[in-house]
Amino acid sequence: MQRKSQKMSNLKDMLEENEVFYRHLVELTPDAIVIHSEGKVVFINPIALKLIGAKDAKEVVGRSVMDFIHPDSIPLIQERIKKLLAKQKIAPYVEEKFITLKEEIIIAETKAVPFIYHGKPAILAILHDITKRKKNEERQAYLTKVSKLLSSSIEYKTTLENISKSIVPTIADYIRIVLIDENKSVSEIFTYHKNLKKLEYAKELYQAYKNRSEVAYGIRHLLSSGKPEIIEKVTPQIATRYKKSIYLQELMATLGLTSYMGVHLKIQGKIIGALTFSSIQKERMYTKEDLLFAEEIGQRIAYAIENARLYSQAQKSLEAEERLAAIVSFSDDAIISKTPEGIITSWNNAAERMFGYTTKEAIGKSIFILIPKNLWGEERKIIKRIKKGLHIEHYETVRLRKDGKPISVSVSISAIKNSKGEIIGASNITRNITEKKKVENELAHLASLVESSSDAIWSGTLEGEIISWNKGAEKMFGFAKDEVIGQKIRDIVIPHNKKKEMAVTIEKIRQGKQIQSLETERLTKDGRKIDVSITISPLKDAQGEIIGISAIGRNITEQKEQEKLKDEFISMASHELKTPITSLKMFLDILERSLSETSHKEVVTYVSRIKDQANKIKDLVNDLLDISRIGAGKLHFTIEKFRLEELIKDTIEGIQPAAKKHTLLFAPSASLEVAGDRFRIYQVITNLINNAIKYSPNSNKVFITVEEIEGKAIVSVQDFGIGIAKDKQKKIFDKLYQVTDPQVKTFPGLGMGLYISNEIIKRHKGEMWVKSEKGKGSIFFFSLPL
Ligand code: ADP
Repeated sequence: MQRKSQKMSNLKDMLEENEVFYRHLVELTPDAIVIHSEGKVVFINPIALKLIGAKDAKEVVGRSVMDFIHPDSIPLIQERIKKLLAKQKIAPYVEEKFITLKEEIIIAETKAVPFIYHGKPAILAILHDITKRKKNEERQAYLTKVSKLLSSSIEYKTTLENISKSIVPTIADYIRIVLIDENKSVSEIFTYHKNLKKLEYAKELYQAYKNRSEVAYGIRHLLSSGKPEIIEKVTPQIATRYKKSIYLQELMATLGLTSYMGVHLKIQGKIIGALTFSSIQKERMYTKEDLLFAEEIGQRIAYAIENARLYSQAQKSLEAEERLAAIVSFSDDAIISKTPEGIITSWNNAAERMFGYTTKEAIGKSIFILIPKNLWGEERKIIKRIKKGLHIEHYETVRLRKDGKPISVSVSISAIKNSKGEIIGASNITRNITEKKKVENELAHLASLVESSSDAIWSGTLEGEIISWNKGAEKMFGFAKDEVIGQKIRDIVIPHNKKKEMAVTIEKIRQGKQIQSLETERLTKDGRKIDVSITISPLKDAQGEIIGISAIGRNITEQKEQEKLKDEFISMASHELKTPITSLKMFLDILERSLSETSHKEVVTYVSRIKDQANKIKDLVNDLLDISRIGAGKLHFTIEKFRLEELIKDTIEGIQPAAKKHTLLFAPSASLEVAGDRFRIYQVITNLINNAIKYSPNSNKVFITVEEIEGKAIVSVQDFGIGIAKDKQKKIFDKLYQVTDPQVKTFPGLGMGLYISNEIIKRHKGEMWVKSEKGKGSIFFFSLPL
């Protein structure tokens, strides 16, 4: 113990004695030296002065040592001082943080020695400034971290977010990354701040100022100036010095901005964005070295973004390739590729279906397996053309299936080139057009049918504009096709008196109805009026929508003329027959009356027979006369009121005696008064009852009824005879129509009765119809208005 204190006092003496010598030494040493005693700085050498940011020792001497120590290092240093003073031992180098007069942080390796300064215990500290080295180390470590982060995700947005999170708060409190696109307009912005509220405010500020040219700092300025920028220390003076920097002032006021720097994101000299760093910490003042560091970070971010962009491009082209592959495999067209020599190298699903070869079977084979022998020459020519780099499009030809069946195809062939432009093969896209060909053939067939038809066939729009016009139409109307296409049908062939009928027809077509065998008139080119029978139908598109009209017409002028001649003949003949028949009947009456009881029985019978036959001829002649009257519109009526049931009763009484087999049963359910020509209605009822008897040889009853339904008198005559087939039921009311069944043919008649009866009823504004079943019987009805 004693030896130790002896040693110490020796050291003290030595130090005191050599003060002058040491003062000299410390002023020359390249290290910073500070002596403090009782907590106050008592000595500082020029190097330390520079380190602390002072010009003169007076600025420092006398101040508390703690003023220059960073809060992080205060506890450690206090501890060291205590130990030093107690043990009087040299403390080894340790890293400590100090604060300069400029409020900058410096890191120094410090060694301390206790000694007596002017009789008082003091500590001499030797500071070795390692701030730069430290910072460099930190930066290097940080850059490594940044690089790791940048390569951790290929999605650049995630990357930027990760980077932002690492920069804040390590080197900034607030950063902004802006990317610009090809047109130099801002495409994306990332902002990051550890304080979310402040971040919001900063974003708002940015939005408010981003387009204002007066802003002297920040993204916009950075991008336009092209130079990195730094404000080492943001002071109110700086903010106001830049008069235009309202933005900066606002930022300072709200965020407490203390230091700022901004750098570019560049790829091969091209600016793709910018990055700004803002500090709100007094101790964090950016330096020129920091700016270089920031540029380094910016550089790395730029490359990461570029990589991400390249990656996504590559990804897209990969996707496009996959899509292409999918199209090839799902295509309905056979897609085949082959070498220049014609060896198949790829074969899609459609090719399998179309040709019947599986991919396995086809690959490696010659394309000639698909080509009929007679077309090999043709294929060789095609191969030559492809080798010259020419394309072949929609070339229609024939190919062979595996089963030997030929198919009609349309082929497009193009050369496949490598990146150097050399032809390395060809691709064939083959479409099966067998069906299409079939349809085309059918259409051609139909078209030739239409063309060669002697009937006039034409079509038009719903507005009546002519679209097609066949040879038959040319012949019938005299107009050539070219003269009428695009013209209105109504302006060309419709006579004035039929224009209304035409309008009605088109309206029916619009409703989807067909008009069958319309007998009408048309005009020819030379102004003749012709009689025609036309069937007009709606034209529909593939969806069933009515888009026009089609018409088939036949010239019936000659037929009409023949009918007219026939009518004239009937009229003439019946008139000529009428007179002799009337006198014949008259003489028969006289002869009948002159016969007496004594007359020969046979003579009486013969006269009666002759009278019956004469009556039949008279009826026939009357029917013929009626028909010609109807044709000429000269059937005249004498209208009177009468009771229908009474007329029916009278008629039955007239017929029953002659009907040997049949009983006529009449049960009227109403007494109905009608107005009409009594004789003509009698004629109708007679005709119906006579037919009922005639056409039911194997039955013995005929039912007759009259009733009132919906304000009309309905008369029916029912038999249980041969009946009428469904398809004949409408026609029996036509003039001179008779059912031509072999069975029916055995019945006498001329087919006049129903035609005349129907005309009579129609002229009375009534209707006539039939219900019948072949082999079971018929019911004929007619109605008369009450
Ligand atoms: P017809 O002189 O031939 O009897 P109609 O005009 O009276 O002439 O009749 C036309 C055709 O209608 C007849 O030929 C016959 O085939 C058919 N017909 C008429 N009435 C009947 C009926 N009651 N039963 C079966 N067929 C009938």
